[in-house]
Amino acid sequence: MGTESADDLAGVPDGFQRLWTPHRMAYIGGQDKPVDREPGDGCPFCRIPTLSDEDGLVVARGAVAYVVLNLYPYNAGHLLVCPYRHVADYTELTEPEVAEVAALTRTAMEVVREVSAPQGFNLGMNQGEVAGAGIAAHLHQHVVPRWSGDSNFLPIVARSRALPELLGDTRARLAAAWPTTPKG
Ligand SMILES: [Zn+2]
Repeated sequence: MGTESADDLAGVPDGFQRLWTPHRMAYIGGQDKPVDREPGDGCPFCRIPTLSDEDGLVVARGAVAYVVLNLYPYNAGHLLVCPYRHVADYTELTEPEVAEVAALTRTAMEVVREVSAPQGFNLGMNQGEVAGAGIAAHLHQHVVPRWSGDSNFLPIVARSRALPELLGDTRARLAAAWPTTPKG
């Protein structure tokens, strides 16, 4: 077990250090917080779908949206539902995108319940950096499984979170449990 600064990892650091056991996570190389609001390689949520499921930590792909593990999870199984299209605001989504983001969110809840039996969920979108969005330019819906006691002293006191399993393992378990014909 060791610690590493969130600054050394890809994605959007949130100020927490994490304890990794026992191996370094499978992570998405070369990506960081986008430097501008343009789509493309500078945006992780545009880049992830171009990677393999394993490299991108993709759990499921729909027609206009996909499901990916959060690289900076609050809890094991913290998923993000993203439209493929680089849009920032919920009001910019097309009707098919709204419908599929909703359907994938519901399926994500069912799959996470089946795999890890959380006691509750937080669902939601942070719209704008002022509202807490790490990557504000590309909309993403959080699906956060919650367990009693998961917000206890560790993140508050140690500014660290111990994740009980590797992200790659979590992705594989969730992808295996994902239904082949999601409910619409
Ligand atoms: Zn994007």
